[in-house]
Amino acid sequence: MAVHTLQTPIEYLKGVGPQRADVLKKELGIFTYRDLLYHFPFRYVDRTKFYKINELTAELSSLQVIGRLVSKEIIGEKRSKRLVARLKDDTGVLELVWFQGINWLDRTLQPGSVYIAFGKPNEFNGRISMPHPELELYNPGAKKTGNLTLQPVYSSTEKLKQFSLDTKGIQKLQSVLLELILKDIEETLPEYIFKKFNLPDRKTAILNIHFPPDTALLDTARKRLKFEELFFIQLKLLKNKLLRTQKFRGRVFGQVGEKFNTFYNEKLPFELTNAQKRVIKEIRMDTQRGIQMNRLIQGDVGSGKTAVALMSMLLALDNDCQACMMAPTEILAQQHYHSIKQLLGVGFVEVALLTGSTPKRERKKIHDALLDGTLHILIGTHALLEDEVQFKSLGLAVIDEQHRFGVQQRSRLWKKNQIPPHILVMTATPIPRTLAMTLYGDLDVSVIDELPAGRKPIKTIHLFESQRLRMYGFMRQEIAKGRQVYVVYPLIKESEKLDLLHLEAGIEAISNFFPLPEFKISIVHGKLKPADKDFEMQRFVKGETQIMVATTVIEVGVNVPNASVMVIENAERFGLSQLHQLRGRVGRGAEQSYCVLMSGNKLSREGKIRLQTMVKSTDGFEISEIDLQLRGPGDIEGTQQSGVLDLKLADLAQDQKILQAAREEVIQIFERDPELKAEENRLLNDFFIKKDNGITWNNIS
Ligand code: ADP
Ligand code: MG
Repeated sequence: MAVHTLQTPIEYLKGVGPQRADVLKKELGIFTYRDLLYHFPFRYVDRTKFYKINELTAELSSLQVIGRLVSKEIIGEKRSKRLVARLKDDTGVLELVWFQGINWLDRTLQPGSVYIAFGKPNEFNGRISMPHPELELYNPGAKKTGNLTLQPVYSSTEKLKQFSLDTKGIQKLQSVLLELILKDIEETLPEYIFKKFNLPDRKTAILNIHFPPDTALLDTARKRLKFEELFFIQLKLLKNKLLRTQKFRGRVFGQVGEKFNTFYNEKLPFELTNAQKRVIKEIRMDTQRGIQMNRLIQGDVGSGKTAVALMSMLLALDNDCQACMMAPTEILAQQHYHSIKQLLGVGFVEVALLTGSTPKRERKKIHDALLDGTLHILIGTHALLEDEVQFKSLGLAVIDEQHRFGVQQRSRLWKKNQIPPHILVMTATPIPRTLAMTLYGDLDVSVIDELPAGRKPIKTIHLFESQRLRMYGFMRQEIAKGRQVYVVYPLIKESEKLDLLHLEAGIEAISNFFPLPEFKISIVHGKLKPADKDFEMQRFVKGETQIMVATTVIEVGVNVPNASVMVIENAERFGLSQLHQLRGRVGRGAEQSYCVLMSGNKLSREGKIRLQTMVKSTDGFEISEIDLQLRGPGDIEGTQQSGVLDLKLADLAQDQKILQAAREEVIQIFERDPELKAEENRLLNDFFIKKDNGITWNNIS
């Protein structure tokens, strides 16, 4: 007798065979029993509810109607050959249409009988029909055996349907499979954990997610499996963190010394915000423990991350260490260098800039000064990672703009010293808490959620195309005050040609309204040669032009404090985080700044929410939360490369509470039992020991 396990190839399942196995593999990536078991329904339909035919609209998802089959006929030729049947209830007639399996259907359908049709209504030529429904003879006398009130809906494809692997076909396989292996499904969570959260054991959860007896049991089944998915991600992240803190000692910055204090008391030109103070305190604590710090600072543009980084670097200096700061682009590195030099003043601390374009002789000097310790702070780009860059004693490395550097680059910095330097990562792309917990779950996260006092929040307004003249009038008014204006157009690959036309038309309109010689315009877009782009950019930076018309290529680093207006054309086409980033280009000077969102008169529901959000809020964190709700985690900027987000069941936008609970539970477990040695945590320890034992179904290895 064959032994059935989770690893058994799918063709061995009764009712599958080589042909169906082939389509299951190709269409759904189902190779083994286990793959099928974890092919969960993505939706459920309430089978106790019947719709009336006159209630159907194309917006409804799968549902069922009951009626008498009044006719059937095969029409059309070749590819458009189809079977059309009519189902009638007391409110109307519905066309049921099949393009496949026509002959078999023609033989078996019985006009005059009453059927239940299950499928999704569709609109074609202004009429509602139901393509490829599943049909079942209505049999009021039949007992409800196996007839679930909640009908699971599995993702399927046309190809699969040809092999009768529609929702019902897959459900049938699931029932055969569960019969064989339900008893072998192993528990992954210690009982005390799932009991604590009132969740079912794993067997029950898997059975009920495929065959839910009722909505309450379905809910707990789904919750249990989501919890499990998120729990093991956190277990892994926090275990890594624990290992790292055990493995990597860190320099102890025991004292706040002369450099830090002199700077704070005599040079810092402003009062720190409470948020800045809090983060500096967190860094102080981290660096006293003798463990390597790995901290992420999230803070909106302008929240004052540089000052925090600088003071942390001074702390390193006070403890006989050097510090470095790495930025993703040359422009950004230069900007950091200049602002830090300005804050420090002369003759206080030795600072140098190292980028790809640093001349050879200069480089040599820097290398030597780093080695003999006369250079204290090095600022630069990737050039810092080169092997020739060696420090006498690197104590702290600051990395600006986290998501552009990979983890590997972070670890290359560690190796610059025998005791790895403390690592401080800064990002200006606020991401929602749940994403941060997952993406950066192994880092400590600090948030600067407060802007320096006296900063005037940017005023944002939304104007429709019909109000365009008002916008031009406003631009004119601001330019008359000596300000500069950005006008940004979307340029998206899929609609590039049309976008370029819009850009051209826009440039023409602006040139007409703002004629030479009084007004001068810089134009920057991706089609320009880099040298021309730079030239145009510089003209605007120097104030030689008042208007900068650009596509979204404006560099992150562009900082023109005199620019006080950001006009975003076709604003409804930008994502929220992009709008927020663009808006961050203004509001850098002392003047009141404005952001004008231009849109067409007709907006989608989502487009409307995005623009309303921008008008209402200037808080990057709030905006990122709404962005997450609207678009789901995969589309949030900075998360694209991360496999952690390919979750099977859990949804970081919807399941924040479950995630929070899972993470807190893991934290407590490691506090009690850091090595997972206790008998009650045996299963958790197994998770790290057994690799492919079938217990994990998400891709977190
Ligand atoms: P971020 O890097 O977070 O975008 P920066 O560190 O560049 O922000 O700071 C933006 C501007 O605000 C700089 O000109 C900086 O000198 C100034 N700044 C920083 N902290 C404060 C503060 N507490 N009060 C007033 N101005 C501040
Ligand atoms: Mg910055």
